[in-house]
Amino acid sequence: MSKDNFTTAEEDKMIEEAFADVLNGYINSNHRKKVEIIDRAFKFAKEAHKGVRRRSGEPYIIHPIAVARIASQEIGLGSTSICAALLHDVVEDTDYTVEDIEQHLGKKIAQIVEGLTKISGGIFGPRASSQAENFRKLLLTMSEDIRVVLIKMADRLHNMRTLGSMAPNKQYKIAGETLYIYAPLAHRLGLYAIKTELEDLAFKYEHLEAYNKISSQIAASEQSREQAFEHFSAPIRAKLDEMGLKYTMKARVKSVYSIWNKMETKHIPFEEVYDLYAVRIIFECDDPTVEKSICWQIYGAINDLYKFHPDRTRNWIGNPKANGYQALHLTAMGPDGNWVEVQIRSQQMDEIAEKGFAAHWKYKIGEGDEESELNVWLRTIKDILDNPEPNAIDFLDTLKLNLFASEIVVFTPKGELVTLPNNATVLDLAFALHSQIGCQCIAGKVNHRLVPLSERLKSGDQVEVLTSKSQTPKPEWAEFLVTARAKTHLRKALSRLQQPDINKGKKLFEEFLAANEITDSNQIITKLQGQFKVNNREELYLQLGREEIVLDDAVAKMLKRQSGKDPNSSMLRKIFRIPFKDRNKDANEPAEEVDPIKLINTKEVYSLHYDESGSNFKFADCCTPIPGDNVLGFIDDDGQVVVHSIDCPRALALKASFGSRLLSTRWEMTAGQFLARVLIEGIDRFGILQEIIRTISTNMSLNIRRLNINANDEVFKCELNVLVDDSKVVNDLCSQIKRINGVQRAVRLR
Ligand code: MN
Repeated sequence: MSKDNFTTAEEDKMIEEAFADVLNGYINSNHRKKVEIIDRAFKFAKEAHKGVRRRSGEPYIIHPIAVARIASQEIGLGSTSICAALLHDVVEDTDYTVEDIEQHLGKKIAQIVEGLTKISGGIFGPRASSQAENFRKLLLTMSEDIRVVLIKMADRLHNMRTLGSMAPNKQYKIAGETLYIYAPLAHRLGLYAIKTELEDLAFKYEHLEAYNKISSQIAASEQSREQAFEHFSAPIRAKLDEMGLKYTMKARVKSVYSIWNKMETKHIPFEEVYDLYAVRIIFECDDPTVEKSICWQIYGAINDLYKFHPDRTRNWIGNPKANGYQALHLTAMGPDGNWVEVQIRSQQMDEIAEKGFAAHWKYKIGEGDEESELNVWLRTIKDILDNPEPNAIDFLDTLKLNLFASEIVVFTPKGELVTLPNNATVLDLAFALHSQIGCQCIAGKVNHRLVPLSERLKSGDQVEVLTSKSQTPKPEWAEFLVTARAKTHLRKALSRLQQPDINKGKKLFEEFLAANEITDSNQIITKLQGQFKVNNREELYLQLGREEIVLDDAVAKMLKRQSGKDPNSSMLRKIFRIPFKDRNKDANEPAEEVDPIKLINTKEVYSLHYDESGSNFKFADCCTPIPGDNVLGFIDDDGQVVVHSIDCPRALALKASFGSRLLSTRWEMTAGQFLARVLIEGIDRFGILQEIIRTISTNMSLNIRRLNINANDEVFKCELNVLVDDSKVVNDLCSQIKRINGVQRAVRLR
């Protein structure tokens, strides 16, 4: 944001028009007409953000206006929310306070703005340690007023729509959070249209190529899809017309993201996604008492025409989903032999499906006043969130729930919440509060009962940490610490205590190398680690300094023997460009402060070791990325950069939880080879395996590292590890293998 005191006349006009659009939308809704207070909120916000611009260059006020527009027109909220949306960034970004807002616009609006400020500054800010915890707090905040969350959702949607003007490393973080937290929450709240848009936008920023490819495939298949739809729908139309219904019937193409998801999880190409579209029948009906029976009449009419899939009828009119969704779904076999999903809804049901509960009360005009009606549905949403039914399929998926189950929340005596992993001890908490508190911790009081440092904590415990100035950190503490943060701090503290010995050892080591004319390198250290069973360079120095290790001629001989071979010629070697980050700096520092083009010059070539000998990055073993894959770097608790593939589920979780520790990385060039896993399936026939192997080893000259074959009657399944230069080679390999007669599928596994 930059300060610029002038907005042009053109911009003023744009601002006024944008606001007029918000007002008109509101006036045309069924809310009571409280135009005056909205106007006052707008003037307040405009004044507060005066002279400030967004990164994109437009006046800042455009953003709150857009958020108010979404809150009103896309979520269906009323005047209080529109005012709060207009003011949502005022306390956070300007000198005005919550009290100022209360004075001008009343208590309710001020409270909501305060709630929004809380989840934006304190929890969603750059210093946020973990989004998982934020999510919980977000839910807690909701208990005060659900509108806080709905407006936050509108804020996020607008930020996603304008994500292009953000810094690239922020884009990753925001897109990751959106997929991980906001889209599932939107789903939970029944805001399907918003959920779908959030997913598609996040997906677009993370996988632009895949997004564009699928979009163009959707466009290319339009004609054949329309033909199929015409074939399928014409007889249905005839029936519905006969019944005298007023309706619309259209083919709804799945979102790009959900198509991609299907392709990924089922390992199938675009052409094999059979349910590319669903047919939606929306009928008009003024009488709510008969709309369900009309649904069933339509169902019956279609059943006269087509065969139904026996397991795929979903009756959400008899049992609406927890979020209010109502519709009757069926899957019919169309004339061309493909299954087609049909969704039958009344207009009112459709509106609820798109807008969630906001649509509910729109239909109840003139019954009681606006606020009480509003409160009814706000309370309904709150009920849903308070009672997450464990077996409801539409609740946040298990992955996300597990994330919370693996954590506990404890209270400090001042009532602050601290989130810790399961099994965390009193000492973990002490280190979580401050490294100094950790180092001087002597015991704890859990629920007023005195306990040792190693006591495991439970969710809800109130914990007081007792310290003493005379306490010093002990090596054996490491045995019961759980958090990486505490372990790192302990290691640092211990090494500080050991510094004199380490210095002495370092000096001895350097003298030894000089005397024997050996050059210092990580490979030398690796050798010595093996020899003396120490974990790293520091430990080696320490033991040398304490004279627990002695470097003699035999050691020198061994090292010289090794140095003939260049350890850099290792198979696993990679050239990378990674934004440099000072490893001693707190890893929680926002990554945007890092100069993204600063390179570690002369050391651009990193050889990758999977040990602690000092390389400052490594590949994640969950997704084992190879050159050509989109990758990102993540700074782990030890300050090491771990390189993940962008689609890796683990990376997705990290993005959402520790967005500020991300680094964008790219492959600079390749050297060496990498293991890729390939799955091949097909119909077994004599000689097919030889053909596959010939294709791999002879035609493509690739090295197979492991081969696992499973033949079952006619079908065979083969998993192999093969050494490749980059992802292009794997793709090439898969398409060559697919050409072999009998092979049904050849895909790279992650
Ligand atoms: Mn905002």
